[in-house]
Amino acid sequence: MPSTMVDQQTTPSQGGPKPLTEGRQSLGILIGLWSFVVIPFLALIAAVPVAWGGWLSWTDVAIGAVMYVISGLGITVGFHRYLTHGSFKAKRWLRITLAIAGTLAVEGNVTQWVADHRRHHAFSDLAGDPHSPWRFGATFWGLTKGLLHAHVGWLFHRELSNRSRFAPDLLADKDIRRVDKGFPLLIATTLIAPAAAGGLVTWSWQGALTAFFWAGLIRIALLHHITWSINSVCHVYGERPFEVRNGDKATNFWPLAIVSFGESWHNLHHSDPTCARHGVDRGQIDISARVIWLFEKVGAVSDVRWPKAERLDAKRVKIAA
Ligand SMILES: [Zn+2]
Ligand SMILES: [Zn+2]
Repeated sequence: MPSTMVDQQTTPSQGGPKPLTEGRQSLGILIGLWSFVVIPFLALIAAVPVAWGGWLSWTDVAIGAVMYVISGLGITVGFHRYLTHGSFKAKRWLRITLAIAGTLAVEGNVTQWVADHRRHHAFSDLAGDPHSPWRFGATFWGLTKGLLHAHVGWLFHRELSNRSRFAPDLLADKDIRRVDKGFPLLIATTLIAPAAAGGLVTWSWQGALTAFFWAGLIRIALLHHITWSINSVCHVYGERPFEVRNGDKATNFWPLAIVSFGESWHNLHHSDPTCARHGVDRGQIDISARVIWLFEKVGAVSDVRWPKAERLDAKRVKIAA
């Protein structure tokens, strides 16, 4: 199965649709991955004894929370619901702001992120999906390996999703191209800004260092793992109240609703990808949807695709009578 999967992805098309991928990722990306994925993760492991030792202040927590919210909403509202799925229209300033905010999450540049994610929706849990936990089968070991692959492994041996096939709209967008170009600068900013804030608030080098550690590295690692859990956990564990395409295994997983800003209502999302709200049922908290609602109230966004009762009812899994 995996080998045919690779073949399908790399075989160039002859006059047919554009190929799914555009070649292996470069050594530079791999080095970047090791620096920005592995190092923050090691910091996360180191964090527990460090916090225990009193090296975590409320200043670090506050700066970390602000950075988590900005970069997290940049991903969920910006990269995902807006730029990938077009669940609403945004004013130009907000479009650029969201693209910048999402880039601060260190999950790759916006065009590549969107291309990967659109490919995920086009082939959910089938051959061609860049990160399906079901890739190695449904046995215990297959799923263990698959979960690891979907969570983070795929990043390290991936074929880059073909941007000209999956994200031509973003490639044609001058503003987005500029944000893509600014990627290295924004990555530097996401690490330096919290350190600077910590240093200025406490007026000390130690304050700068602890803010760098907590609000920079730890915040990045935490957000990575929450985002990745949507790809791994939310395709395996949880409820499936809405109908999705054959083979698609997306789930609603409530424990991650708040920390993922509503993205863990992933079964509804796969059932109705352009819907601006993912937590559509009573009590399903969806912070991203609330933020979109606020933007709509102040006139920064329009044409929001809010859920409609009839549409949802049609998609709800029917219980056989
Ligand atoms: Zn998914
Ligand atoms: Zn999506």
